[in-house]
Amino acid sequence: MGDAAPAPSTPWHALAPEEACRRLETDPQRGLSPTEVEARLRRFGPNAIPEAPGRTIWAMAWDQVREPLVLILIAAAVISVALGEWSDAFVILAIVILNAVLGVTQESRAEHALAALRELMHPNARVLRGGHLVDVNARELVPGDVVLVEAGSRVPADLRLVEAANLQADEAPLTGESVPVSKEAAQVLPPETAVADRTNLLYMGTVITYGRGVGVVVGTGLQTEMGRIAAYLRQEEPEPTPLQRRLAELGKVLGGIALGVVVVVFAVGLARGEPLLDMFMTAVSLAVAAIPEGLPAIVTIVLALGVQRMAARQAIVRRLPAVETLGAATVIASDKTGTITQNRMEAVRAWIEGVVVDLRGLGQESRPGGPAARHSGVWQSLDPVAAAALEWVLRGGSLVNDGRLERLEEDRGWRAVGDPTETAILAAAARAGFWPEDEHRRFPRIGEVPFESRRKRMSTLHRNAPAGDESSPGDEVAAAGDGGLSATLTRSAGRGSLAWPGPELLAGAPYLLFTKGSPESVLSRCQAILRGGRVEPLDEQARQEVMEANAAMARDALRVLAVAVRPLQVPLEPMREEVAEQALVLLGLVGLIDPPRPEVAEAVRVSRRAGVRPIMITGDHRDTATAIASQVGLMRSGGTARVLTGVELDRMSDEDLERVVEDVDVYARVTPEHKLRVVEALKRRGHVVAVTGDGVNDAPALQRADIGAAMGITGTDVAKGAADMVLADDNFATVVAAVSEGRTIFENIKKFVHYLLSCNLGEIVTIFGAILLGLGRPLTAIQILWVNLVTDGLPALALGVDPPEPGLMERPPRRRGEGVFAGGMAWRDAYQGLMLGALTLAVYSWVLSEGHGIERARTAAFATLALSQLVHAFNIRSSRQSLVQVGPLSNRWLLGAFAISAALELVVLLWPPLAGVFGVTPLNGPEWEGILLATFAPIPIVEAVKAVERAVARRRFAHE
Ligand code: ADP
Ligand code: MG
Repeated sequence: MGDAAPAPSTPWHALAPEEACRRLETDPQRGLSPTEVEARLRRFGPNAIPEAPGRTIWAMAWDQVREPLVLILIAAAVISVALGEWSDAFVILAIVILNAVLGVTQESRAEHALAALRELMHPNARVLRGGHLVDVNARELVPGDVVLVEAGSRVPADLRLVEAANLQADEAPLTGESVPVSKEAAQVLPPETAVADRTNLLYMGTVITYGRGVGVVVGTGLQTEMGRIAAYLRQEEPEPTPLQRRLAELGKVLGGIALGVVVVVFAVGLARGEPLLDMFMTAVSLAVAAIPEGLPAIVTIVLALGVQRMAARQAIVRRLPAVETLGAATVIASDKTGTITQNRMEAVRAWIEGVVVDLRGLGQESRPGGPAARHSGVWQSLDPVAAAALEWVLRGGSLVNDGRLERLEEDRGWRAVGDPTETAILAAAARAGFWPEDEHRRFPRIGEVPFESRRKRMSTLHRNAPAGDESSPGDEVAAAGDGGLSATLTRSAGRGSLAWPGPELLAGAPYLLFTKGSPESVLSRCQAILRGGRVEPLDEQARQEVMEANAAMARDALRVLAVAVRPLQVPLEPMREEVAEQALVLLGLVGLIDPPRPEVAEAVRVSRRAGVRPIMITGDHRDTATAIASQVGLMRSGGTARVLTGVELDRMSDEDLERVVEDVDVYARVTPEHKLRVVEALKRRGHVVAVTGDGVNDAPALQRADIGAAMGITGTDVAKGAADMVLADDNFATVVAAVSEGRTIFENIKKFVHYLLSCNLGEIVTIFGAILLGLGRPLTAIQILWVNLVTDGLPALALGVDPPEPGLMERPPRRRGEGVFAGGMAWRDAYQGLMLGALTLAVYSWVLSEGHGIERARTAAFATLALSQLVHAFNIRSSRQSLVQVGPLSNRWLLGAFAISAALELVVLLWPPLAGVFGVTPLNGPEWEGILLATFAPIPIVEAVKAVERAVARRRFAHE
């Protein structure tokens, strides 16, 4: 590509758009060819700013070794060497190393999982390549690419604008200036203009707040302004979740308590006449065993694994705390369009000239200018006046439209690009024989007021170029300056003469403004209506008639749009809604069908059963919303005032809203500001609120919600940036699935916390108990360390990936802020720890009483303590339900962890070389029987306690 290298010093802002394109060897109408893109990608590399490298294995290992406890262990090993206890020293060091390896594996696993998630978050860019609009990963952009941006986009590279319509960008990330900057394509600025004032450029990482634009990539990756100021962007550290923070606290407190106990054990042991050094080693090992140092790492892994599972279910978590909060959600406030419905719109009905037309009879015409479509049933049933009106509606509706139909090869129909609401109208027009490209060529777009969910309408201004006076193909680049994107992107195709029938007043005007939007919003700007082929004043009666037609369609669950026109003698300048959207002539209404997603009805049921109330917040008409809500079971039957509209909301104070918020299932015709109010009202009522959103203006509500969920497909970059979670499939059912995953993850974290706590308590009770009872030290230092290693790692992890308990989604949500000790968990830890300690002590003292020496008793204690903990892991799988209900074999990870851990313990017990190192001796048959009895005893004991607890709970429930 010759000299097209964008020298970093090129002052793109000082070049006219055409000149910039020339230097970049690109065509703003077609973009680069795929082969050229490949060549440039090889040459310039990916459009990415390298992230700071993650932590190395060695850094992680060093962090493991630096732990105070590990340092004490190493000191203990050194002391052992000094005492000539070589094998002890060796075992201790081996354990230190094993521990570090385990820790590093856990951590790097967690980091990998988080990195994989970051990868999922890479933004897309919409580019024109080889004449086709495609969405590509922003990493694949190259200089010369022609990129489209619109309100809500994050600018994917540095761009020289070639087209801008009311474009504004928030450049705070780059310049710190928080007021959006207006952008113009045509300007040519002096070369010395400061970065912040280059109003014809867009910068990577900034955000489009309004309007639409087309730009040519002038810099990618490190060659962007952003890349230049931050060669290495700070990698976003995952913030610790509230639970992680609380558990870290808990770990410290427990560590403190354990240390205190250890000091007491040490003192009592000495008083009982145990040798100082042995007692010291025992105390150190006990400290290592009792302090739950693995807690934070396992929490991270379980969260990260859970997050991966959620990603597989199309819910991509951006902020870890959301995972916990999800499990506590009490309300899901969902959009309608695309979330509850399929967003596969089809224009099925029109209302023109007082008649209702079934548009499904329009046929399947896919070629442009096909008058054949006029023979279809629809047209034949209409009189000429109505036919002309329908034509105005369809052609006008496809002009005031940002969607595109891309023709597929060999007349195999078309592919729609853009908002389904818009492409549905394009498709209807195309089926009627009006190919949008031809319309745009015939009526080039020269201005626009973009759609906003607050206004619920949009307008575009077109030049009414008389047929034959069209720009020649050679003019098309020049036309880019004033024509709309859709006009300039299109070419080829036959140029039939397209004259519009109907009133001279409209067809003959040199400029036409088209408006489409919600009927209320468009009608409020109309003064006249097309009637009997003439433009007539819109009186009150006509208004009523239109609104009745609108309501009739809405009741059939149709989304209704009104299309209006305004003939103009001179173009409007500037295009502002107050000036432009005035004195409109209503042409007619179009009704779009958008069926609910099939899985939503079940998801609504599941969520209700789980005590999570689904509600709908939509910009659509009250009747449309109600109809869809009823279809999916979202409207509860009976009662009063279940639907609230934006107008009603505006009349209510925040207190009023708070009073009714529990009763309202559907909010209709609302704006994003209303959505924010609803979220806040719900939160004040103590709800934990999950909210979905897609537009730029949804960002505040997404941020304010406990869980903000942005649409992955239709969502803007701004919405995604503000959200805690992205729904890859835009689906309501995905939110419900995420809630269920969130609950599972929280439960699993609880499980391994309780497993670790009850086991550690069991170890303390064993050692402390024996010393208090004057039975000596029941385990040697390295035996304690080994038990800790074997029982803490794998089973805890396996509990972290436990499948959900049956009935998890039939329980009410956890209360906000409820920690891991709620619901009697502290008591369970206590009795279960005591149980494990007592069982080991029983075996120990029994073998000791046989008089075969303390080594043999220690061997028995060593076996019992380790194996009973492994068995106890199965008890932990449900705090209330019997293991039979949970399914003893349903967690294969736990089965595997049990097998491996038990094997590790048995190898030490039974393999003579190791037995020597660990100071274990062979045991006889009855002793093994005793050990097995004690090992499996935790199951019946805990089952019995659970049964009693269930009975008590039932009785209490019955009394209430
Ligand atoms: P939703 O909550 O269904 O996504 P929106 O805020 O997108 O609601 O739309 C609200 C209303 O605005 C719709 O009922 C429709 O009448 C109108 N509308 C939606 N999209 C467009 C569009 N692209 N052009 C014109 N009007 C639109
Ligand atoms: Mg919408």
